Amino acid sequence: MGLEHDALMRQAIDQAEGARGSTGDNPWVGCVIVDASGRILGRGHTQGPGEDHAEIGALREADAQGEDVRGATMYSTLEPCSFHGRTAACSRVIVHRGVARVVFGMRDPHPRVDGEGMRILREGGVLVLESVCEAEVRRQLGVWVVAYHPHEPQARARSLASTLGDDALTRTLAEVYAIDPALAAEIAREARAPRE
Ligand SMILES: [Zn+2]
Repeated sequence: MGLEHDALMRQAIDQAEGARGSTGDNPWVGCVIVDASGRILGRGHTQGPGEDHAEIGALREADAQGEDVRGATMYSTLEPCSFHGRTAACSRVIVHRGVARVVFGMRDPHPRVDGEGMRILREGGVLVLESVCEAEVRRQLGVWVVAYHPHEPQARARSLASTLGDDALTRTLAEVYAIDPALAAEIAREARAPRE
């Protein structure tokens, strides 16, 4: 099952790549929904700011094709969101639609979501599996994480700083987030700076 999860998550990652750069301050997320035999029912990626998230796009495509998503498995590169902002909370829509299982790559570092989307899904009876292809997803979304949720790389840098020298820390951060080494060096320097 592990390999199958990876293969389907890579399809979600491919979907997300189609949205890179066109999502405003939203992360470029990809999603695929499959039935029990692994047949794709719908695909989606993040639309523009204030428009559909990837999960909703995939549900819409399934609906448009007359597919029934009850009992289906959804693969999403990022944890489904948990609060009603410019759009309805995806986690609540997913519960409402009767999706049986959600497999996601990375927790949403947004402080209002981080683990909360997963909690809503589980409370709604949805099976949840996290961290599938997580490293790939973090690299795909690295520049977004660094730009909009810098507390995440800063916390990682501080925890790594105790065991890694300056160059190794910079290289590791550049690799984990797929970011420019100069930007990684800046995060590394901040992690070393005395905290107020
Ligand atoms: Zn959402």
